[in-house]
Amino acid sequence: MEHKLAELKTRLLEVDDLQYAGAVLYWDQATYMPPAGASARGRQLGTLTRLAHEKFTDAAIGKLLDDLRAYGEGLPYDSDDASLIRVTRRQYERAVKVPATFMAEMSQHFNTTYTAWTEARPANDFNRVRPLLEQTLDLSRQLADFFPGYDHIADPLVDNQDYGMKAADIRRIFAELRAELVPLVKAITAKPLTDDSCLRAFYPEDQQKAFGEMVIKRYGYDFERGRQDKTHHPFMIRFGPGDIRITTRFNEHDLGDGLFSTLHECGHALYEMGIDQGLAGTPLATGTSAGVHESQSRLWENIVGRSRGFWEHFYPALQQTFPDQLNRVSVDTFYRAINKVQPSLIRVDADEVTYNLHVMLRFDLELEMLEGKLDIRDLPEAWHQRYMDDLGVTAPSDKDGVLQDVHWYTFNIGGAFQGYTLGNILSGLYYSAALQAHPSIPAEIAQGKFDTLHTWLKTNIYTHGSKLSASELTERVTGGQLRIGPYIQYLKTKYGELYGIQ
Ligand code: ZN
Repeated sequence: MEHKLAELKTRLLEVDDLQYAGAVLYWDQATYMPPAGASARGRQLGTLTRLAHEKFTDAAIGKLLDDLRAYGEGLPYDSDDASLIRVTRRQYERAVKVPATFMAEMSQHFNTTYTAWTEARPANDFNRVRPLLEQTLDLSRQLADFFPGYDHIADPLVDNQDYGMKAADIRRIFAELRAELVPLVKAITAKPLTDDSCLRAFYPEDQQKAFGEMVIKRYGYDFERGRQDKTHHPFMIRFGPGDIRITTRFNEHDLGDGLFSTLHECGHALYEMGIDQGLAGTPLATGTSAGVHESQSRLWENIVGRSRGFWEHFYPALQQTFPDQLNRVSVDTFYRAINKVQPSLIRVDADEVTYNLHVMLRFDLELEMLEGKLDIRDLPEAWHQRYMDDLGVTAPSDKDGVLQDVHWYTFNIGGAFQGYTLGNILSGLYYSAALQAHPSIPAEIAQGKFDTLHTWLKTNIYTHGSKLSASELTERVTGGQLRIGPYIQYLKTKYGELYGIQ
């Protein structure tokens, strides 16, 4: 058995190498590659995707997993080897249903679409990506159909990102959350609008970058194992246990953009950096689901990075970095500005209270497209209509409408967005569990100390990588399944205080 396990690991390591080599090419494309490199890069990524898929779905891996099954079941459930055999089997059974040529076709198509999107968005030209998006929808349906027997066509796509969840589960959770959020948004928007003009002075990019990097070092981001570069739509990416990178973008007329995007991606990176390095080179060495991943980015960005205690500590340093812009602005004014609630057009800039409404409408549109109830040519209009209905705002253009998010232009339609809201809910749930274990955490944050929180997250969440599913992890960490209570309580307490609402 030891011999077979070693062979399995050797084969998985090759798959891992191909995948992460592809990740480097993707990162380069999204950061420094000259535009004319796009078509060759698309082909190269398609080839690597196909090779990795072929290697992973090799019948020899299936045979090894069969031979190792009983051995794995005899080991403790969360031991490295039992988890490796169990999780690899689940992924293998899924992967063999999709032909390698289809994976390559999809990868190349996403690449072409991404390049078109980087040009279509600034030009506000939806028609430029429309035929490509029609193909994306077609490919997304085909992908789902490799998994017959679903209740809803989105189920296999949702399951791929948030294992164990179906469209119906997400709808139920979102409806519960919406019932709490809508009255909260209403109560807040009845109050006078917060003045956040202090964020809109001129903030030179270099100083923004330096300040953000100083903060994430304090969070525990290890620059010996990572770096930060600029991109269109920020992301975190892993190439191996010693190379976990983040990207950001800056707006010299909006301090919040770059800073909170840096804190967000750092949260994703802390998760990846905290995974037990003994799992490296296996499918276990990455975060367990889109939702759990997002819980970490949102926790470090919002629950920590937008808290009063955090700014009581860091605001003097920010004032020193930007004396002309902030010396006459009190910490209280600044804290209110970065937590201003106002229904708006752009998801990534949305406040914590309205943010989930942006996600929910995208999720609903995905389902309608997959169900064949919404044509791509009607998507821009449907988008504007939902923004009007749900948030009471209309984008002047598609640039800030349907073209704003990269997701549908670099991924399938279906499963792309629900993880953001699941992540918010989980961030509240996990943070409340951390506070129960260590009530001193808020006081430590107010001193610029993050060790207790970071260590708790590492020990309870990060170290496991993908050994435990999101649902198993949540059960262990919080003693129950995903539930909205602690997250809603967090929002009500924080914003009740900020806006004087009971
Ligand atoms: Zn994120």
